[in-house]
Amino acid sequence: QLYNQVQDLKGSIRVYCRVRPFLPGQSNVKSTVDYIGEGGNIMIVNPLKQGKDARRVFQFNKVFATNVTQEQIYADTQPLIRSVLDGYNACIFAYGQTGSGKTYTMSGPDLTTEETWGVNYRALRDLFQISKERLNAIKYDVAVQMIEIYNEQVRDLLVSDGSNRRLDIRNNSQLNGLNVPDACLVPVNCTQDVLDLMRIGHKNRAVGATALNERSSRSHSILTIHVRGRELVSNSILKGCLHLVDLAGSERVDKSEAVGERLKEAQHINRSLSALGDVISALAQKSPHIPYRNSKLTQVLQDSLGGHAKTLMFVHINPEQNALGETISTLKFAERVA
Ligand code: ADP
Ligand code: MG
Repeated sequence: QLYNQVQDLKGSIRVYCRVRPFLPGQSNVKSTVDYIGEGGNIMIVNPLKQGKDARRVFQFNKVFATNVTQEQIYADTQPLIRSVLDGYNACIFAYGQTGSGKTYTMSGPDLTTEETWGVNYRALRDLFQISKERLNAIKYDVAVQMIEIYNEQVRDLLVSDGSNRRLDIRNNSQLNGLNVPDACLVPVNCTQDVLDLMRIGHKNRAVGATALNERSSRSHSILTIHVRGRELVSNSILKGCLHLVDLAGSERVDKSEAVGERLKEAQHINRSLSALGDVISALAQKSPHIPYRNSKLTQVLQDSLGGHAKTLMFVHINPEQNALGETISTLKFAERVA
């Protein structure tokens, strides 16, 4: 068991790239993705350039073509769920420009059929399943938090009175990854309980926003599953937590066009995404200093990035030609953290 974990730690940061298919009505559009290789290669082609400047290859742990299923996307996540139940922390991120498929990967297009379920639901299903299998050895309690970070302010998405107050972050290893201790922590017993909570969370996210979609693309939402297990024989306690993070859209806004509120939002998003990139790449390079303090996002996730924690990042590509600039900058970001 221990041997397995030590082995697993070698690949504690993994980056997967997913290419969104063209949406209905876009079938004649030419893709900027030229090929996807076996070894995690993806080639991007710029139709406006000639020769070797027109092509660029990026390399990740895996690249998923447009035809992969939600199940295939999830396949490598299960070991991460197991490690959370073993008492480790983990983060799963969805990164990409607005419209590239982040929410599709994390939540899925709809919840009516399990086939289209996203990573969130599959992770929860496995978490409850595995904890049941261990029932004779460990008694688990599971509880959930759901927060959003908007303009560098942390808000609780599960407050029942809808007050949506601002919350403080505390970094204290005693908290075991629950670094927003004042956010509601709601006990859950099954996947359905979590689905019900997420519905409340999504509703609260809309409060005060002019349009739900707009707001959801400009804030980071973090669903945290906190697991506490008591080993029945030894009575020892283990604690782990899993953060499922649907990041704000990574697109740059044109400084000459964005003003006021929109510019402020964009600057906050930019800053927090680059802070996240800095932290992950510092971890990947085993740097002695990890710059967690530069954003609320990295402060909230501090105990779950680095150390024995595991990180999985899904970066999303929109294959349309008018998204080429964002595609390149998304892939550059991902290459830096991979
Ligand atoms: P984001 O959360 O990054 O803004 P969405 O997940 O909302 O993007 O996806 C944008 C649109 O593309 C939605 O209509 C979504 O259903 C569709 N879409 C995204 N990824 C896929 C996919 N892998 N297969 C089919 N449709 C997808
Ligand atoms: Mg989204």
